[in-house]
Amino acid sequence: MEKGLLIKYGEIAIKGNNRRLFENRLALNIKECLQPMGEFWIAKEQGRLFVEAPGEDWTDWTEEAAARISKVFGVVGICVVDVFSEDSFEAISANVNRYIQEHYGGDAATTFKVEVKRANKQYPMTSMELASALGATILEAYPAWQVDVHKPKTVIWVELRGRVYVYSKVIPGVGGMPTGTAGKAALLLSGGIDSPVAGWMMAKRGLELCAVYFHAHPYTTDRAKEKVVDLARKLSLYAGKMRVYVVPFTEIQLSIYEKCPHEQLTIIMRRIMMQIAEKIARKEGALALITGESLGQVASQTLQSLYCTNEVCEMPVFRPVIGFDKQDIVTIANSIDTYETSILPYEDCCTIFVAKHPETKPKLEAIQKSESRLPDMAQQIEKAVDGCEVITVYRGERIE
Ligand code: ATP
Ligand code: MG
Repeated sequence: MEKGLLIKYGEIAIKGNNRRLFENRLALNIKECLQPMGEFWIAKEQGRLFVEAPGEDWTDWTEEAAARISKVFGVVGICVVDVFSEDSFEAISANVNRYIQEHYGGDAATTFKVEVKRANKQYPMTSMELASALGATILEAYPAWQVDVHKPKTVIWVELRGRVYVYSKVIPGVGGMPTGTAGKAALLLSGGIDSPVAGWMMAKRGLELCAVYFHAHPYTTDRAKEKVVDLARKLSLYAGKMRVYVVPFTEIQLSIYEKCPHEQLTIIMRRIMMQIAEKIARKEGALALITGESLGQVASQTLQSLYCTNEVCEMPVFRPVIGFDKQDIVTIANSIDTYETSILPYEDCCTIFVAKHPETKPKLEAIQKSESRLPDMAQQIEKAVDGCEVITVYRGERIE
């Protein structure tokens, strides 16, 4: 008998070749998230992954490992299991009783049921037969235990998949699709509350991320940049390794400020941001952009404004929080631990170069006309892209 972690993932939607890809990537991502703890062996077990103890001293690793794995996208549940090869009824029954002794002591009264899953359909008993026979031997061994099939306090799970797995607790995983199975996108990451949440939501769908931050030094301070790097570090705990491009944006903002009507500043700036982000995305092999825009939240996020912003984009733009209320976004920000960082007060470039009365219903023709006052913008954009500082974050740390 060994101890280990049995990993559950959403099985239904993934078939054929995609499934292999999904499983391999998930195994790799789990192995990677455990790396700081040691070299773990991960086995595929007919619709599950199994993480084996690195050594004899198992009690020390399961809790920390489970906490780490619960952040890996694609994981639905994590079970601390007893596993053994001998699958005769007698062997299963003896191991189940021993499991109960170890985890619940023998006597404490509780209600229970046994749930059996049988990937091995050759097994001579059906799942139902095996569950009720095991239930009977538990009642015999632990007279204080009572069966309740509807609302049991304890469920003893027995899974037959090559080997036999016994567990009774499932730690919830974060769900979603394994990072890296859906390609890559560039996240426009400001220091605000919304864009880290937007990036997290899309990474949860399997996207790898790179981040683009527009920095208007010296109008925005190094603290503002550090704040964005901190947010990226937090995202990297879920989304894996990520390069953060810090775009030198001051010259462009000053040009717009000098030459364009002030009520159009934000919208013109946002159109330029999107163009720069696309160029960086192409360099990174990313095929989409992600923003934290939410309909109607501010002047630059009215439908008319979004229409004007989107008009310059060639790539798909994912705006996963577009239909969210602020409170819904804050709830996610709290659950992924970005909120406290996001509300730190350092100014970002949008708050400094902002008009008193920004246009809420910009007309595309008028915006394009104003932009014709910026004949050097194409070169300025190239220069900004070439002048990026690139910072790499990984597993919650800045590494380069
Ligand atoms: P957030 O809370 O994400 O900053 P916001 O509510 O402040 O969003 P805006 O400032 O209008 O809204 O920005 C909308 C989106 O544009 C952001 O969610 C982000 O994706 C992108 N963005 C804005 N400013 C920057 C910046 N300085 N660097 C990178 N992306 C930015
Ligand atoms: Mg903002």
